Amino acid sequence: MLLTIPTNSPFSLHTLPYGVFRPGAGEPARVGVAVGDWVLDLAALAAGGVFAGPGLRGGEVFARPALNDFMALGRAAWDEARAVVQRLLAETLTSMRPVAPPLSRTLHRRDEVELLLPAAVGDYTDFYSSREHATNVGAMFRGPEAALLPNWLHLPVGYHGRAGTLLPTEADVVRPRGQILPPGATAPVFGPTRELDFELEVGFFVGPGNRHGEPIPAGAAADHIFGLVLVNDWSARDIQRWEYRPLGPFLSKSFATSISPWVVPLAALEPFRCHGPAQDPLPLPYLRAAGPWAFDIHLEATLQSAAMAEAGLPPLTLTRTNFRHLYWNMAQQLAHQTSNGCAVRPGDLLASGTISGPTPDALGCLLELTWGGARPIPLPTGETRRYLEDGDRLTLAGWSQGEGYRVGFGELTALVRPALE
Ligand code: CA
Repeated sequence: MLLTIPTNSPFSLHTLPYGVFRPGAGEPARVGVAVGDWVLDLAALAAGGVFAGPGLRGGEVFARPALNDFMALGRAAWDEARAVVQRLLAETLTSMRPVAPPLSRTLHRRDEVELLLPAAVGDYTDFYSSREHATNVGAMFRGPEAALLPNWLHLPVGYHGRAGTLLPTEADVVRPRGQILPPGATAPVFGPTRELDFELEVGFFVGPGNRHGEPIPAGAAADHIFGLVLVNDWSARDIQRWEYRPLGPFLSKSFATSISPWVVPLAALEPFRCHGPAQDPLPLPYLRAAGPWAFDIHLEATLQSAAMAEAGLPPLTLTRTNFRHLYWNMAQQLAHQTSNGCAVRPGDLLASGTISGPTPDALGCLLELTWGGARPIPLPTGETRRYLEDGDRLTLAGWSQGEGYRVGFGELTALVRPALE
């Protein structure tokens, strides 16, 4: 076989994202790297003695069913692994010769492996860091005068989500039931949500973590952020609207959160670092991170209804936005999360919150795109959507565009299933 990478592949030599996969049914899960249409088996490479440096000490962390132990090793080990893999693949790509051992025994076709959750997530936080999203949702839930609450411009608002209901890509999402106050009613009913929504987000995995009681300064964030994934924070808006006061979202979010299988290292995104929105008022000193902490990552969401799939129609793009629009950045989120001494551990996931941009075509969820259902979206079949229907397939994608290459996340996709009887 000859190793080549299509120019529009999210998994270029500059990406080298980590994931956990099974090469075949019943085989043990292990760590791999996606490259083009292939998955490189790092556990097999490690067995061949490739990772001999001081940080990886043989690379036995790659023979595990989760990335947590690799995440715990810290930046020196991450840099070492990336350099080894990049050198091996670059030599093969430039040689234009068929792949030779040890690489040939360690490459699997990406469409033939089973992708699992990349990490065993102990704790999961979801922030609310897009000013546009917070303003739009606040306006719909509370009216335009109280859209942005007084604390919002001073701290990255967040809540603790459910790590136990994180789902890998391709896992179906079952429409949840819950308590809903129908419009005009004085008493709630219990039943399937009528307002199932997606939220387009990006999350990051924590590396070594901190000692309980010791905050991570914003300036040290780069040593604590292992890599990024796409996140879909499925939301039931009618359940949320009734339950969220005064303690925030609860059952309207905890039924499912999907994450993409390939963790893009922070190092891969460095060329796309840029300035985010200006922050006014100036954040308190513990929330100030030196240098730019936004990243230019194009993001989009597409929808394909069951009727569209049946008719062979391609998915409809619902939104195109960018990670750089976020008001509160990852360094600030991590600093705020740990500012009270809260412990974060390897594999903890901190997600951005819905990423909406300043224009009407850059909104990160249906609640905003249809303005609370008031402006249904027409589909090419003649159907319309206010919220997600059973049989809909929702897919997120994201990438940074370099000159002649991409650093991408691939796709995060799921099908909506009917509520249980
Ligand atoms: Ca969210």
